[in-house]
Amino acid sequence: MRQPLVAGNWKMNGTRQSVAELLAGLKSGVGQVTTAEMAVCAPAIFIPMTEEALTGSAISWGGQDVSVHESGAYTGEISGGMLKDFGCKYAIIGHSERRTYHGESDELVAEKFEAALNAGLVPIFCVGETLEEREQGVTEAVVARQVDAVINRGGVEMLGKGVIAYEPVWAIGTGKTASPEQAQEVHAFIRSRVAGHSQAVADGIQILYGGSMNPGNAAQLLAKADIDGGLIGGASLKAADFLAIGIAANA
Ligand code: PEP
Repeated sequence: MRQPLVAGNWKMNGTRQSVAELLAGLKSGVGQVTTAEMAVCAPAIFIPMTEEALTGSAISWGGQDVSVHESGAYTGEISGGMLKDFGCKYAIIGHSERRTYHGESDELVAEKFEAALNAGLVPIFCVGETLEEREQGVTEAVVARQVDAVINRGGVEMLGKGVIAYEPVWAIGTGKTASPEQAQEVHAFIRSRVAGHSQAVADGIQILYGGSMNPGNAAQLLAKADIDGGLIGGASLKAADFLAIGIAANA
């Protein structure tokens, strides 16, 4: 039985005050979430205050990216060890915004996956097709290529130590959600692809859906057999909305 995970991706949003309010709201309401694990992936500068607020709570936290390097002359980068030092459990890896705006290749993302694991973090590994790719009918080929890059680097056992997030790029921040059926189809494909290497890893790995998930559509998405939670952008910035998604996963 896979535990649902509802993880927030705050992206580059927040102020000291808004983050303090958000964290306080999450802490006071998380008791209503009975089944899912809740986590927030904060901008690096807010991680210390996130750690301070959430230590001892039921909510985990993480970063939004990780360097492939452990330390050294890499201006602007944050290492997995630094995230771990501030209590992070998770690191988002290969988000489409990093693939698009920072030119991250499948191979670099796989290297980051391994770097996160080596630092003791759980990678939340994002895959997903663009609208153009969906219209060309190559969704499965794109997602397979992205998943295979991690398997090729470290084997299916390495992949199994992370969490996969299927995030159709056309659904991120657009208000357009994949229908539960569209999402389930790709989730089942990803799981079968992993099963081709190891049925045990396929059975155990959490596959989250991400792309305009909100309190209004979460329950239907989360009801699907292969959707094990959500990676939430916009709706994770409001405590009530984010918690409502967690509550939608209550057994
Ligand atoms: C995301 O960026 O991971 C995401 C799913 O964003 P949104 O929920 O805003 O579409």
